[in-house]
Amino acid sequence: MLLLFCNNNRTTSIKLKNKNVRKRRSGIISQPTEYLEDDEYVTYLKSKEEQNLIRTALENNDFLSHILQEKRLQHFIDCMYKQQVKEGETLITEGESGSHLYISNNGRFEITIQESFIDTFSDVRVFGELAILYSAKRHATITCLENGSVWTLDCPVFKKLIIKTAIEEQEEMVSFLKNVPKLNTASKEHLYQVTNLLKIEFFATAKEIVKQGEGGNKFYIIRAGSVTVIRNNDKVAQLGKGQFFGELALLKDDFRQATVVADAPGTECLTLTRKEFIDHFGEVDEFINLKMKYLDTEKVVEYTDVNLDEFEILKTLGIGGFGRVKLIRHKSYRDQVFALKCMQKMEIIAKSHQDQVYNEKNLQMACNSPFIVRMYRSFRDSKYVYLLLEICYGGDLWNLLHKQKKRNFEESAAKFYSGCIVEALEYLHKRSIIYRDLKPENVMVHSNGYLKLTDFGFAKKIDSKEKTYTFVGTAEYVAPELIQNKGYNKAVDYWALGVFIFELLTGRTPFHTNDPGHLKTYKLILKGIDHVTFPYYISSKARSLIKKLCAHTPSDRLGCQRGAIEDIKSHPWFSSFNWSKLRNFEITPPFKPVLQHIVDTKYFENFTENKTVPLDDFSSWDNEF
Ligand code: ATP
Ligand code: MG
Repeated sequence: MLLLFCNNNRTTSIKLKNKNVRKRRSGIISQPTEYLEDDEYVTYLKSKEEQNLIRTALENNDFLSHILQEKRLQHFIDCMYKQQVKEGETLITEGESGSHLYISNNGRFEITIQESFIDTFSDVRVFGELAILYSAKRHATITCLENGSVWTLDCPVFKKLIIKTAIEEQEEMVSFLKNVPKLNTASKEHLYQVTNLLKIEFFATAKEIVKQGEGGNKFYIIRAGSVTVIRNNDKVAQLGKGQFFGELALLKDDFRQATVVADAPGTECLTLTRKEFIDHFGEVDEFINLKMKYLDTEKVVEYTDVNLDEFEILKTLGIGGFGRVKLIRHKSYRDQVFALKCMQKMEIIAKSHQDQVYNEKNLQMACNSPFIVRMYRSFRDSKYVYLLLEICYGGDLWNLLHKQKKRNFEESAAKFYSGCIVEALEYLHKRSIIYRDLKPENVMVHSNGYLKLTDFGFAKKIDSKEKTYTFVGTAEYVAPELIQNKGYNKAVDYWALGVFIFELLTGRTPFHTNDPGHLKTYKLILKGIDHVTFPYYISSKARSLIKKLCAHTPSDRLGCQRGAIEDIKSHPWFSSFNWSKLRNFEITPPFKPVLQHIVDTKYFENFTENKTVPLDDFSSWDNEF
């Protein structure tokens, strides 16, 4: 097999005999939104017809229809404003990052890609939504051909509305749960977890939701509308918003004490089955006494007394988003060899990624696990901030994977490598850190052949509400709830683990497409893992694990129930896998780097050294580096 490495800035690629080019995939992060509870939103009055026009356009859009329902949809409609557009005016420019979403109202518009004509349109339609939703660069230019008007929504308003409505929804659910006997003795933190399990169900007028005397296993909270309660043919009560029925079903399998019928024009309920509750928390009595068990991270800074000028810089090991990772060696203590991640400050500022870089430093330095690359300390000067990292001589897993004969690993190797990642995720999740960017490019092979997770640029520590909203990750690896802007938690890492195992076994991800804007990929992800064709050689146990990790609903995903990550470790695919041997490094790895000397870089690509000198930055944002 011919392997040819080329370096086109940060996306390096491997060209194989059959001319298939595999590229390292870049991560995507949308600008995190600073959300304040008392933020005010300017709303614009609209006629009924105008509202309907906007509503229909939003509901007909593939991506927005998933995330805009009820209140949220109305908020969006209220915040859109009308903008006149003139002939010749360009609304969207190909290649730029977008800051507005539009709905054509009247006029005629032209779509061009690379200055070639694609189409014109004069109907009512949404455009520019993908840049806002997924930080995708505008993939076409849209110019106005005839004077007209558009409805516009500004990006910051869009993002804040998404978070505002999700938080309001979660708070409302908690306030409902606070009224339910027994559950109301649980802490608010626990009730936030219960909200993740609630499903929305609609019952048409006169529908018997539960029937007296029948067995029941579901609990209902009324979210909108009302119900009539009938006992022995007598109407005994009418219940409305926030009230609940069937609560005994959570405690034990029981017969319904009354019949409950949906009133006109229908009733919307939040529902929860006893089985789901038990799968996640155990019996109600156990749940209310549950203690949150999160471990703390600790920042251990090492090598405090060394300076950067005590090292010689030998070679580039890899290229990252903001600069290079270099091999360095101490000039006096010749056995001290490290990887130094050098990030250009002006680049960081240009992309407003200061918070993200701090996050990376603070979180990775606070991790002390054999399955995570150790970050010892940081440095700074006028051009760069630096991270001093433990060296991993085996290169990254992406490289190793694509060097395999068939570009995939044998099942036993895939199991070993996935095992290392499960250990890393367990370490992080116990400390309430979500990793958010699992992929072979971010996994290093240590000199002992074991894997270590690195690159904490997208990692995040989450609070007790356990939800976060920024769109972040690598397209082929993002979970559906991220695409749907629903708010997400550590379940996104288990989804990514499913994709990762699939990739190790087959050399490609299940939702891979060649669409550079990733839309087709996102559509496949929303369609789900059941639409993916698994190659014949994937064993039924591996298939079962991948499907369970890639369950569409986060609370159904393996790893998200009561057994947490233990459920993954005890899945039949890992039945012959010895986890304690893994932790004690007693398993022989599938591949062990063979090194000639302490600065041997044969498992890395060759990069031409970059001679350009970056600009200085004397602002003080990096004081704590
Ligand atoms: P991207 O944004 O493209 O993911 P990044 O800026 O986050 O990149 P990293 O993924 O941390 O950068 O590192 C880039 C490359 O540098 C890695 O793919 C790997 O080849 C090399 N590298 C990183 N850390 C180490 C290490 N500890 N030892 C050896 N090589 C490393
Ligand atoms: Mg990376």
